[in-house]
Amino acid sequence: MWDEIWDVIVIGAGMAGIAAARELLRAQLSVVVLEARNRIGGRIWTLRDFCDEPVEAGAEFVHGRKSGIWPEIRRAGLDVRASAPILRSAFNLGGATRWLPWILVHPETWACAGMRRGIARNGPPDLSVREFIEKRGYRGRARILAEMTFLQHLPGGGNDVGVLGMVEDGVLDLQTRRNYRIVGGFDSLPRALADGLDIRLDCPVDAVFWDSEAVRLRLRNGRELEARAAISTLPVGVVRSGTVRFVPPLPQSKQWALAWVEMGPVLKLLLRFQEPFWPGWMEKLECGTGPINLYWSVFRGADGASPVLMAYCTGPRAAELSVVSEQEAAEIAIADLQRLFPKADPRRMLVTCRRIDWTRDPFAAGGYTFLRPGGLRARACLRAADTGMLFWAGAATEQQPIAEIVEAAYRSGLRAAAEVRAALERAGEPRSSARR
Ligand SMILES: Cc1cc2nc3c(=O)[nH]c(=O)nc-3n(C[C@H](O)[C@H](O)[C@H](O)COP(=O)(O)OP(=O)(O)OC[C@H]3O[C@@H](n4cnc5c(N)ncnc54)[C@H](O)[C@@H]3O)c2cc1C
Repeated sequence: MWDEIWDVIVIGAGMAGIAAARELLRAQLSVVVLEARNRIGGRIWTLRDFCDEPVEAGAEFVHGRKSGIWPEIRRAGLDVRASAPILRSAFNLGGATRWLPWILVHPETWACAGMRRGIARNGPPDLSVREFIEKRGYRGRARILAEMTFLQHLPGGGNDVGVLGMVEDGVLDLQTRRNYRIVGGFDSLPRALADGLDIRLDCPVDAVFWDSEAVRLRLRNGRELEARAAISTLPVGVVRSGTVRFVPPLPQSKQWALAWVEMGPVLKLLLRFQEPFWPGWMEKLECGTGPINLYWSVFRGADGASPVLMAYCTGPRAAELSVVSEQEAAEIAIADLQRLFPKADPRRMLVTCRRIDWTRDPFAAGGYTFLRPGGLRARACLRAADTGMLFWAGAATEQQPIAEIVEAAYRSGLRAAAEVRAALERAGEPRSSARR
């Protein structure tokens, strides 16, 4: 047993955990962060061995100019690069690939014109995306366009995702915000925030013993640590998998919430080519049919960077590419690109492919979450401070401004840190001189 008692232990060194730990350290509390992996950042993971520039295996974009993480990006002095405006998107609803304005010229898509207003007027009771589409009577291309609008980013099928939950989570706003990349890699941000923190890598937590006085944690290697309070930032998929034991078991309201907040599959295929074959104006290509939801141009060969396309899959499409080999997944993407760009020869141009499958990652157990039909307010139950001195953060616990993005994780960390400080103050003098 480690002879260690802390004011606060934070479980997980993703954005939520790092933001929380830094706040608590600033408040002069003794804090340690326990991280299962051999790196920090969690679902922010920058690859530096795929091509000559950093490429993102997890989170890639800062969403919008008003994101709450901008002050941190500026403070850390990180350079950013804006992605192209939405008009530089192409769509494929089956048949030929079209530039965004042209897709809307097709009469079959006109039925979708009032869709956003229809969503705002929907329910209660909540409907699944499929039920909503059927109620609106969308057929043909209108149906494909509606499914794309709802499910392009969310890792669930039409029957799994609730329309009201989607509105509560603010996910439709993702499509209207301008995106930005951190040039040196998204992981530069958690690294900057982590400066000065005591983070223990390769320390998977196995069991959490909680009550109203303190929290004791057991690591997979059998060691134990104790603290006056702890913050769990464990992803929902990990909590649901049962690989971390909670003693006593989590209360009913948390178990209810865990049943309604669904972690779904998300998978990225990074494709590096000798030369770009996609048009220079094309920033993004959204696909209503086929094995890939979305392609985007990471680099197009300018300034000496290798041409790299990202193939992004969520929900059922990600699940299908998860069960084949990496080589087969690459073949499937190449055949799809051949369909989308019939005059090009992507197979001949391909240099290398790498698959990042978040569902197979035991410390994520999925990409990110969405709300099942009827799951309204489940995220509030997830974040509720109803487990004694054990508190909750993580992107799944926050809906402002959009659930399950890096900004949500950051905000959740600040919120949980404030809850812990208040609880420690209520409990008596903080022991900043805890044994270490
Ligand atoms: C493919 C993909 C693309 C994305 N794109 C974007 C994007 O462009 N923009 C955006 O804003 N967001 C994006 N997101 C979402 C974003 O990455 C997450 O919302 C955010 O990073 C989650 O932060 P977190 O701290 O809540 O969780 P995590 O980052 O998952 O942190 C949790 C930490 O807990 C650790 N852990 C797990 N189990 C244990 C254990 N037993 N013991 C100790 N530690 C443990 C994990 O290793 C991890 O480090 C994307 C996500 C994915 C998967």
